[in-house]
Amino acid sequence: MTTRRSLIVGNWKMFTAIEDGIALARAISERTSDAEYADIVLCPTYCGLYPIGELLRNTRIAVGGQNMHWETEGPFTGEISARMLLTCGCRYVILGHSERRTHFGETDAVVNKKTLQAIAAGLIPIVCVGETMAQREAGLADRVVETQVREGLSGLSGEQIAGITVAYEPVWAIGTGRVATPELADEIHTRIRNLLAAVSNRETANAVRVLYGGSVKPDNAAALLAKSNIDGVLVGGASLHPDSFTAIVEAARS
Ligand code: PEP
Repeated sequence: MTTRRSLIVGNWKMFTAIEDGIALARAISERTSDAEYADIVLCPTYCGLYPIGELLRNTRIAVGGQNMHWETEGPFTGEISARMLLTCGCRYVILGHSERRTHFGETDAVVNKKTLQAIAAGLIPIVCVGETMAQREAGLADRVVETQVREGLSGLSGEQIAGITVAYEPVWAIGTGRVATPELADEIHTRIRNLLAAVSNRETANAVRVLYGGSVKPDNAAALLAKSNIDGVLVGGASLHPDSFTAIVEAARS
């Protein structure tokens, strides 16, 4: 049986500026220093990446970007490249978050270009997928997620797929306080893993960590993480407070 280390990711969205971000990163780092059972990634705002990357250098916490452009450089006002993330100390990058898809029109084709570029640059992409409530109610959840996985990962070799992380984040659960049941999330995660096996092979699919995201809190994290196909969590709101984020990390202990 493949054992996948739990991965706990904090997505700070557009919430913390430099000083608050540094204080938050420091508190989380101090309070998770013995959490050798899990990998931890913090995804600060762009202005916090460099100082927090420096602060967390040589600690057990990795830093990730929340987005990036698919080109190496160019006239793309307001964008950031994979190399820029790397030079700020990032190892990971969140791609295709539903807020990027909804507010900035990111399509699966765009997510695919970014994923290929992130891998080429040496970043670990966390590719987000997930259906809206309207899609779920219309019975389309499985089909939507399958399309997002297939198109988002199109053209990746088996070796490249083995190196990525996928996050299932039902849009209706993000920032709403409405969490998917562990059973429902595990069922979709199992489908995602089967799909990864179909586009590569079973061994590769078993190596990929599939995270759940959507209103993860200290009181629901353990039940989610106990499921065999839920390999970690992507946390928004609860990652902005040391108490709640470290309690979620603690939930991965067992
Ligand atoms: C997210 O930002 O990916 C997220 C899951 O947010 P929240 O935990 O606040 O629902």
